[in-house]
Amino acid sequence: MKKFNSLLIASAFAAGIFYSCDNASVAPEIEPISAEVLGQIKSMGFSTEGAIKFESGYLVENDIYLTDHDLKEMKTGDRLPILEQYSTNNLVCGPRNITVYAPVGGRNGYSAGMIAGLDLAISRYNAQNLSITFSRISSSSGADIVMTRLSKRDERRGVLGSAGFPTNGCDPYGQIKMSGILESSYGLSTGGIATIIAHEMGHCIGFRHTDFFDRSISCGGSTANEGDGGVGANHIPGTPTGASASAKSWMLACTDGGDRPFNNDDRTALNYLY
Ligand SMILES: [Zn+2]
Repeated sequence: MKKFNSLLIASAFAAGIFYSCDNASVAPEIEPISAEVLGQIKSMGFSTEGAIKFESGYLVENDIYLTDHDLKEMKTGDRLPILEQYSTNNLVCGPRNITVYAPVGGRNGYSAGMIAGLDLAISRYNAQNLSITFSRISSSSGADIVMTRLSKRDERRGVLGSAGFPTNGCDPYGQIKMSGILESSYGLSTGGIATIIAHEMGHCIGFRHTDFFDRSISCGGSTANEGDGGVGANHIPGTPTGASASAKSWMLACTDGGDRPFNNDDRTALNYLY
């Protein structure tokens, strides 16, 4: 099965999947990032492979949103040992219910199918009996995480979503930018949509990519160590060493669009942190 980035379908590898590419000169709309910024991203320990300009910053590791401000604030990353599940240094302080808002319907809202995916993602977390729970609310005011549509341009060029990591004040990252066309254009099932949304929620509460040490495990291509990115990549005790694509962790860097409910190691990691 062809693979595509969990957040960027239209990468160099995957451009053929969603572009009707009869003309080989058709290329994704990727603006170049300056060598200086690429150097900063790399020095922090993030992979620059596939990094793109996004909103008012950059998307790295497929779906981590960094601004110039973040690049200034973060410290230089370290190379890390090869182990399985990883968290950032900052985590959400529990017990806590995390409220999530997503607009429903209309040009700037989500279809019923997308909302069903969000609700399934929430119920998957809540079924784990963690010290944090999630609930969807119908107003953006007071929501801990607001999920809004990507720009039409980013949806068209194949970005699936973006998120960030918890704050140093115990709060989850407050914004998920999510494509609204996972069902309508890519034909993903409710479980596939839930997997991608649960993945972004995972970043918001401090999960890094399961295969951050070598994202070629899920993404294909060349071996690429994402490093600790200056935000920490702490091995979660009780999870085995070495990731594999066949284990289908929901936090693998790339997805094939299929359904990845929490596996046993994912549950161990969730229970350890929360
Ligand atoms: Zn991710």
